[in-house]
Amino acid sequence: MAIRSNVPVVRIIVENGRAVGAVLESGEEIRAKTVVSAISPRTTFLNLVGTREIDTGFVRRISNIRVNGDAAKLHLALDRIPQFSGLRTPELNGRLVIAPSANHVERAFNPSKYGEFSPEPVMEITLPSLLDSSLAPDGACTLSAIVQYAPYALKEGWSAGKPKFLKAILAQLEAYAPGLGKSILHAELLTPLDIEQRYRMPGGHWHHGELQADQMLMSRPVFGAEGYDTPIDGLYLASSGSHPGGGVSGVPGLNAARRIIARKG
Ligand SMILES: Cc1cc2nc3c(=O)[nH]c(=O)nc-3n(C[C@H](O)[C@H](O)[C@H](O)COP(=O)(O)OP(=O)(O)OC[C@H]3O[C@@H](n4cnc5c(N)ncnc54)[C@H](O)[C@@H]3O)c2cc1C
Repeated sequence: MAIRSNVPVVRIIVENGRAVGAVLESGEEIRAKTVVSAISPRTTFLNLVGTREIDTGFVRRISNIRVNGDAAKLHLALDRIPQFSGLRTPELNGRLVIAPSANHVERAFNPSKYGEFSPEPVMEITLPSLLDSSLAPDGACTLSAIVQYAPYALKEGWSAGKPKFLKAILAQLEAYAPGLGKSILHAELLTPLDIEQRYRMPGGHWHHGELQADQMLMSRPVFGAEGYDTPIDGLYLASSGSHPGGGVSGVPGLNAARRIIARKG
């Protein structure tokens, strides 16, 4: 067995209704008895398999999965460890959440319904270099934060909106960690659009699709591909687009492996 990284798959080969392999970006073909797709179900069918191989009802269901994300990711390189008001240094090892009240979260969410970002975003912050010193030079620090809410389709477009959103995020951080702004050496903000492009994840949704009642359990990703089987023989789904959804749990992959073993046994 070989694991190969940085080799994008551009096509799943389907012959007589059965998946028999994959074509890499380099043009190389890899033949296999079983093909497991651990990426977005939408990309799997609409881009890699192709709509010619699946019936129109299934194409419609896959096309209708709601995949637009509303979480952004902030990465900061800081020249020192930030001081959050009221927290001692050992407490910085945990996850710091800026969500002062349920009403604040609600208010932060509201603008995203209208294609706008939150002026006072909710944030989940970690300082990874405090736990892994190889991530920053001595005395310096990295900060990683999930920032909500950032609609996939920002009304004014992300090229105009991103600097403004970054400014709002940094103002929010400054209120909790005075002086942090002056210690920034480098900042990177990934919007759902950036996440889509960088990780080939349509909509940039962190779970490869919303986790709402109509997209969960036997409806995830869609009726006809629930349970990790697909309408294409020999092709299985295994990403967070399948039940039980996202998070770094590995459960969709575990369930898919069990299903494949059961079918072969
Ligand atoms: C901003 C953000 C914050 C998050 N925070 C948390 C958190 O704190 N805790 C938590 O549990 N979860 C978190 N998540 C969710 C979690 O990261 C995802 O649900 C999880 O990574 C999904 O795992 P996966 O293996 O299904 O898919 P992915 O992690 O998306 O892996 C799919 C991989 O396949 C690659 N790929 C795509 N297309 C192709 C192709 N054609 N050929 C080859 N490779 C391809 C992608 O580049 C990617 O590396 C977060 C997600 C985001 C976006």
